[in-house]
Amino acid sequence: MNRRSFIKSTGIASLGLSLKIDKTFSQSDNSSVDPLVIATWDVKKATKKAWEIISSNGNSLDAIEQGCMIEEANKDGQSVGIGGLPDREGNVTLDACIMDHYGNCGSVVYLKDIKHAISVARMVMEKTPHVMLAGDGAKKFAISMGFKKENLLTEKSKKDWIKWKENEEYNPIINIENHDTIGMLAIDKNKNISGGCTTSGLAYKMQGRVGDSPIIGSGLFIDNEVGGAVATGLGEEVLKTVGSFLVVELMRQGYSPEEACKIAIERIVKKPGSNYKNFQVGYIALNKKGETGSYSIQNGFSMTQYDKTGNVNYDSPYFHKQG
Ligand code: ASP
Repeated sequence: MNRRSFIKSTGIASLGLSLKIDKTFSQSDNSSVDPLVIATWDVKKATKKAWEIISSNGNSLDAIEQGCMIEEANKDGQSVGIGGLPDREGNVTLDACIMDHYGNCGSVVYLKDIKHAISVARMVMEKTPHVMLAGDGAKKFAISMGFKKENLLTEKSKKDWIKWKENEEYNPIINIENHDTIGMLAIDKNKNISGGCTTSGLAYKMQGRVGDSPIIGSGLFIDNEVGGAVATGLGEEVLKTVGSFLVVELMRQGYSPEEACKIAIERIVKKPGSNYKNFQVGYIALNKKGETGSYSIQNGFSMTQYDKTGNVNYDSPYFHKQG
């Protein structure tokens, strides 16, 4: 077992979907919480950056932005920021969103030529009267805010795209590489929770396609009285179930973060006709007490957590037991 011992590992099977939990989330809990950050996948450099901020009295929003920026700047990551795999026409387009403890949020979709989509999303939140900017408008806004244009299609991603074009077969790929979308949640010393999500979306998507990641409530949701959740994987399935909002609402009803993620995954896999065996979705969640958890459809998903005990990547529990 390399998962956190504090994640409840028993009793989940006995929790039917219809079981009513009477332990509703206590909003008057005055206990203190140690800061911590969690992220989808094995992204220890990103969680380290976020930890440096929250462990030295910084706020969770700065931690989220700067943590996500680490992966956006990493050319070797082919699903976030620079180096992201393009759509089928060869365009790298980024989606991102961010949400703070007041419930403010900002989002960018179909952003081209600017690698720090998370920072543009934060600027949308802080400097405009809007929540979401798309395409050319998002890019124009970013440039007006001082962001530099750059070519996001690296040689490696271009080569992979050219190879893909030989057959042009489009299938959602499970656990495509070492990580997909980076979703991050943090709680700071003031017990304020923020979250962010940044991605280049599905590789070889149709031009114009936008997934769950920049959609508040689907890719990310924060309610500072309860907690936060973030998603990765096949965005269409997350969108259809408004996944992150669902996870937070389940935590409000008293479910632990892991239980809430599990029930949200079950919403996807138990839909009539679901072909869940062919795709991956994973959630991570954090509640106001500083408890964390994750759950995915397939084996292979993981969550990185940096807290006062260290920076550790944990395999996620999952639904689809093969064989
Ligand atoms: N959720 C992202 C999307 O559908 C992709 C991913 O997490 O890999 O755009």
